[in-house]
Amino acid sequence: MTEFATFGCEACCAEDALVAREHHHSYSGVRIEKMIQDDSHFIVSVKRCELCSQAFVSVFTEYVDWAASNDAQYRTVLPVTDAEAADLMEGRLTPHQAGALGRGRRYLQSDWPSDADDPTVYWSGGVFEVREGY
Ligand SMILES: [Zn+2]
Repeated sequence: MTEFATFGCEACCAEDALVAREHHHSYSGVRIEKMIQDDSHFIVSVKRCELCSQAFVSVFTEYVDWAASNDAQYRTVLPVTDAEAADLMEGRLTPHQAGALGRGRRYLQSDWPSDADDPTVYWSGGVFEVREGY
């Protein structure tokens, strides 16, 4: 099994992905520190846990599905160091480069294909591809 670096606290990085997601979605849980990109189908922000100050980069991608009533939505929330968060917020690191930061780390992934009633939330890990939706 791959070893991943440890980040955050038992709320924002709870072993149970659904518990972690709950904290990330609550108003007093994880707060947006800076919006980096805010298009309707591609939203990237740096967030911070109110409890332990762990920084995260959140990448939201939506694909408009004209055939289905729901649009497919994917969200990746990756813990980052303060230095990486600053690089992202100040433009030294682009949202597309953020995927490479996943190396050796876990990230909270939420997949909501257009044909599903509910999102699937799980911890994944490693380098991921950052794609813009449409
Ligand atoms: Zn935390």
